[in-house]
Amino acid sequence: MDVTEIRKDFPILKREVNGKPLVYLDNAATSQTPQQVIDVIVDYYQNYNANIHRGVHALSQEATDKYEVARQKIQKHFNAKNSYEIIFTSGTTHSINIVANGFTTLLEKGDEILVSAMEHHSNIVPWQMLAERTGAVLKVIPMNLAGELLMDVYDELLSNKTKLVFCNHISNALGTINPIKEIIDKAHAVGAAVLIDGAQAAPHIKADVQKLDVDFYTVSAHKMCGPTGEGMLYGKEEWLNKLPPYQGGGEMIAEVTFEKTTYADLPHKFEAGTPNICGGIAFGAALDYMNAIGFEAIAAYEHELLEYATQELLKIEGLKIYGTAKNKTSVISFNIEGLHPYDIGSILDKLGVAVRTGHHCAQPIMDFYKIPGTVRASFSFYNTMDEVDVLVKAVLRAKGMLE
Ligand code: PMP
Repeated sequence: MDVTEIRKDFPILKREVNGKPLVYLDNAATSQTPQQVIDVIVDYYQNYNANIHRGVHALSQEATDKYEVARQKIQKHFNAKNSYEIIFTSGTTHSINIVANGFTTLLEKGDEILVSAMEHHSNIVPWQMLAERTGAVLKVIPMNLAGELLMDVYDELLSNKTKLVFCNHISNALGTINPIKEIIDKAHAVGAAVLIDGAQAAPHIKADVQKLDVDFYTVSAHKMCGPTGEGMLYGKEEWLNKLPPYQGGGEMIAEVTFEKTTYADLPHKFEAGTPNICGGIAFGAALDYMNAIGFEAIAAYEHELLEYATQELLKIEGLKIYGTAKNKTSVISFNIEGLHPYDIGSILDKLGVAVRTGHHCAQPIMDFYKIPGTVRASFSFYNTMDEVDVLVKAVLRAKGMLE
């Protein structure tokens, strides 16, 4: 993998911030966009911007074809059996809400929902709302200090009352790669459905939804070189057929009268209204871009970045890393004894280094460690070892200024 060449694809990486070269280490929040994807976005608005599925004119048909080709690219990438099992959404949050809403009619009082202790708020709140609507009980699969799920407790929590299990593939706050195949198989053994939040995994790992036998898998395009406001929900055909639509409107109907409406077939049943057409097409282009580099090469290189950054950061006195799971991706959450993460992040910004500070939309994890938040540096395949050195120097500088 030629990182120097790859970096040339990302115009934003050439810019300066506060008079310093940008070192972008907030990839877990959103990734940067290569020129190849930007070109696809510009091409759409310059040449064939039109509403899809309904038009007989050439532009509408061109846009429809490209949108449906993008759906097929996503299907192929995640190895879904059918393209209609791929629902275009505005992102992971939207995808999860479709499923949580759909289960309202399928759960009864006293049914149990299991959720991991290391979830993003978007994989907690919709289930809490579902539990409130249905009288189902939300139970938490705990984790240890390294940020690994306690699988023996998971075994104990599973029962014939368990109807749903929700877990992220990779934790955004800790980087832990969860044993999702085991989680899925064990849930299926008691007849529960499983939703895996793949928002953080999709930029690093090519998930095979058929091999995983997962019921639902969710992704946000903006974390994998695509645009914001775009993502997908994969659902097994039988589940998507069972769930009622999330929103009513145009595109999702078969027939409408004032007495009764019948719904369109999959995937349109879940795609009410004009979608983010350009976003869907650009999502397909982002997958093309990443696949051309290759996910194995990406994972191997990011692992080197993780190892080097971990080793160098740990040389700093008083620095503690949260999330030390054996199986983790290129996310480092840390604090320095006596210093507030926000203050460190603000100084890093002045030095051109973009990191995230705070609770990372995962407050229960921060409560678990009894901290207000962390500084999170998250690395992508276009980051370099030199940038790790800049980060470490910047953290040392911040430490010197704040102590
Ligand atoms: N789940 C995880 C693990 C995430 O990291 C994020 C984004 N930070 C989300 C869900 C929500 O994604 P989005 O805001 O794109 O809907």
